[in-house]
Amino acid sequence: MSLTKAVKQEAQRLGFELVGVTTPDPPPHFEIFMNWLEAGRQGEMGYLETGRSRQRRSDPRQILPECRSILVLGMRYPPPEAFDGDDPGLAPRPGNLPLAGRVASYAWGADYHDVLPERMKALVAFIESQAGQPVPNRWYTDTGPILERDLAQRAGLGWIGKNTCLIHPQKGSYFLLAEILLGLELAPDEPFLPDRCGTCTRCLEACPTSCILPDRTIDARRCISYLTIELKAAIPSDLRPQIGEWVFGCDVCQQVCPWNWRFAGQEVDPAFTPHLGVSLPELIRELSFSPQEFNRKFKASPVKRAKRRGYLRNVAVVLGNLAAGSGNPDVIDALVRVLQSEPEALVRAHAAWALGCVGGETAQRVLAQAAQSEQDAGVRTEIQAALAGGPYAS
Ligand code: SF4
Repeated sequence: MSLTKAVKQEAQRLGFELVGVTTPDPPPHFEIFMNWLEAGRQGEMGYLETGRSRQRRSDPRQILPECRSILVLGMRYPPPEAFDGDDPGLAPRPGNLPLAGRVASYAWGADYHDVLPERMKALVAFIESQAGQPVPNRWYTDTGPILERDLAQRAGLGWIGKNTCLIHPQKGSYFLLAEILLGLELAPDEPFLPDRCGTCTRCLEACPTSCILPDRTIDARRCISYLTIELKAAIPSDLRPQIGEWVFGCDVCQQVCPWNWRFAGQEVDPAFTPHLGVSLPELIRELSFSPQEFNRKFKASPVKRAKRRGYLRNVAVVLGNLAAGSGNPDVIDALVRVLQSEPEALVRAHAAWALGCVGGETAQRVLAQAAQSEQDAGVRTEIQAALAGGPYAS
């Protein structure tokens, strides 16, 4: 058996369902990435803009000068329900759950940053044992300056869809990608050249914030994944209603993709078995999370990336959306507690906005009281806006 074949077999044994090899040549869409940066579409993700980051993304040999091949890997995560209706992301929930939010499905189980590196280390050890010598290497899983979907397409794993995801023609797009740069020659695969999106535009139409651009990039500043995970500041108020039920990430552009519909129910790695408490968070309960409770629940979950203040900000927004116009007393109680005693101004500000959405006399009275006692200028502005009538006011 050839070395390349043996390495691919071992990668699959380790749980990487997708395995391909490409050369360390510059990625074909680097120019598009540069244009994206120049347009400022990266939002607050300043680490993408640095000279070092640009240089390394332009050419994998800038990362590992000895690089002679790149192994591109994909591990499946649990698919959420598929939608082909008019209302993506808002399908009925199982059972009679209390007010629950939605979490992107890659975050339902273990943190991939904990799972994939161990397997990549094991794969490198296998490669070195086969090569009979140490092999220079660098590996990344969404953690390094590398245009991974470009490399995956060139390694034959699929095409980059209009939703910007890597789509495998038989397995869909619910994959975590990883790359190992190797100072070792492996036989490269043929690039995947067809564009199987054809005339379909489902993802563009379904995106709640219209953040998908014609050049197969995303305006991160409008993307729900960015707004609920990467953005550390206030969520722009005009985008809050469009966040809908999403408290962490978003799956809509993949849920509506026909290439994913047939793969629901396929086996996923046990490490990514969903934890129901994470995939369907009880919003009222979670809005009261102390730092200790947040850390305990999410210490092994990707959700910790949002940090408590960002996550509770999101929970407040989703409660405002779900309970809009209802005057729901349980939601109002939970938001009032936040407005009166939460130490993070960011969370108080979004609770004020949510109270404005829920509406009713109690909410108005509490907002008026808080307008007198609130010390933070930013929160006071949110309170005044909520008193003036939120986005759901008729
Ligand atoms: Fe392509 Fe349609 Fe899937 Fe979007 S939804 S990625 S256009 S196939």
